[in-house]
Amino acid sequence: MQVTKEKKSLRLIKSINAVKDPVTLDRKKSSIGSDEYYQHVERYAQQIRHTSDVSEIIKILDLVLSETRGLQLDDEMHVAEEKVQHAERKIEVLKNEMEQLRELVHTDQMTGAFNRRGLEEVFVREAARADRKAVSFCVALLDLDNFKNINDTCGHQFGDTVLMHLVAVAKETLRPSDIIARFGGEEFVILLPDVTMETALSVICRLQKTLAKHCLLQPDDQPLSVTFSAGVAIRRFGEHQKTVVKRADEALYRAKHTGKNRVEAALT
Ligand code: GH3
Ligand code: MG
Ligand code: MG
Repeated sequence: MQVTKEKKSLRLIKSINAVKDPVTLDRKKSSIGSDEYYQHVERYAQQIRHTSDVSEIIKILDLVLSETRGLQLDDEMHVAEEKVQHAERKIEVLKNEMEQLRELVHTDQMTGAFNRRGLEEVFVREAARADRKAVSFCVALLDLDNFKNINDTCGHQFGDTVLMHLVAVAKETLRPSDIIARFGGEEFVILLPDVTMETALSVICRLQKTLAKHCLLQPDDQPLSVTFSAGVAIRRFGEHQKTVVKRADEALYRAKHTGKNRVEAALT
């Protein structure tokens, strides 16, 4: 049977606008061996080579994957179909690896909280959402009290346990939509979307109380009640992470200098 060129054409039917400046294939002209097809694939490869942002790479892979799945093949093209399925599986594996990499890049390995990089990404997302919906969100900066003393008396490893304990208690106490990130050594940032300052203050106070109740056993079996001080700022419309965290830090400074184990509101 004569298979027409038209029939043989391998069509990439899906075009997604998730990627910036997506390169879409001219569906009518492209066939599996055509120059245009390979140029198209090469353009994706170049996009991947030129981005260091794992999330962006995952978007490109998603695009390639959905286009690969959309390939229309004729019965006569079994070999090509197998190749396409093989490529599809490889892309899936690569995408999973990229997703694991994204998690590694954005997570503090010891505590499981977001790291600075993860925080930046989540902050940008939450800030955009808050501006779009005209809702507020609050940022709390926490610093463990007398942590150096805990390290000195109970050892660095126990100190690590305290950091992990704080994150575990915070994850249990906060809402799933709240975010905890390790900002530095024993400092943490908590993002509280959709809340007023009053609510944010009560949430952080509740976390303090829960943490105090869940004592940790020190190496000598004595219970230790961990405390922290915190500053809370309500993000202004359009405000960047740096300035809102700076205001929270000023409030934290006041909490430390008025006795520790306290929560202070930042000036708006
Ligand atoms: P304050 O109540 O004023 O906050 O005093 P502090 O002792 O908590 O604060 P300071 O900044 O003097 O000490 C912080 C300590 O945190 C010093 C550093 O060795 C320790 N630290 C930082 N990162 C880690 C870590 O990953 N694990 C452990 N165990 N300790 C850490
Ligand atoms: Mg500190
Ligand atoms: Mg401290």
